[in-house]
Amino acid sequence: MKRLPSILLGLLIFGCTETSETEVIYLTDKQNDTCNTCAFSLVDYYSINSLDTLPSTYTGTPANGSLNHAKILPPKGKNFFYFDSTSYLKDRAFTHSDIRDIVLNTYANLDVIYPGRIFSIMEASNKKGGKMDPHRTHQNGMSVDFMFPKLKNGVPYHHLDTLGFLHYLLDFDENGRYTKDTTISIDFETSTHHIYLLALEAEKLNYAIEKVLIYTEYKDELFRTTYGKKLKQKGIYFAQYLTPKINNLHDDHYHIDFKAK
Ligand SMILES: [Zn+2]
Repeated sequence: MKRLPSILLGLLIFGCTETSETEVIYLTDKQNDTCNTCAFSLVDYYSINSLDTLPSTYTGTPANGSLNHAKILPPKGKNFFYFDSTSYLKDRAFTHSDIRDIVLNTYANLDVIYPGRIFSIMEASNKKGGKMDPHRTHQNGMSVDFMFPKLKNGVPYHHLDTLGFLHYLLDFDENGRYTKDTTISIDFETSTHHIYLLALEAEKLNYAIEKVLIYTEYKDELFRTTYGKKLKQKGIYFAQYLTPKINNLHDDHYHIDFKAK
């Protein structure tokens, strides 16, 4: 994110649990809200929210839709974790059952290709879909935000990955370098490979990537990579123009909308 725009107005750091630094809550909730679900561990929360095994259904579009029988993403797996515990406990890690499978199958592939590398899922959808501030989309279980994997001096680097919701506020320059420490940068090779694998796994379940939102100034870096070229050949659509506000929000993560074929 280039500046601290209005998204910051929607955030308030609070101490939901004993670890407070990365805990965030939306001001759209009651400011004095206490976290009634904090007694649960994320794994417990995952378990009690995984009882509905019916296939998910959705209505509408990512920008105006709803979701039924949504599935919560696991809080962690062998090579991935959900980025923010408060977001998780506020039911913002739900998605369509098929999209969950695409996401998890892709992580299984990544684990073989990049052993030891850890990836992070950012926000998905609400349990019932619908509006999820401050996102404009994410309404029907077809949208997922993925944290950019990063490098420091060319070596995989994960220390910024545990900031929780504050990760959305990190600021990278037009070449993907972290502005507070330019030895840290976006790993475009791994990111584009991840997107390519998501596209392949989506095809297996009769889905496709409808759209990728990434900070548009990254275009040269993206399509210079091995898998960026393949994504281009495959015709994966990257949004060409975003409003400055939306564009600035997408320098730390890639947003993907899926669609049923
Ligand atoms: Zn998004």
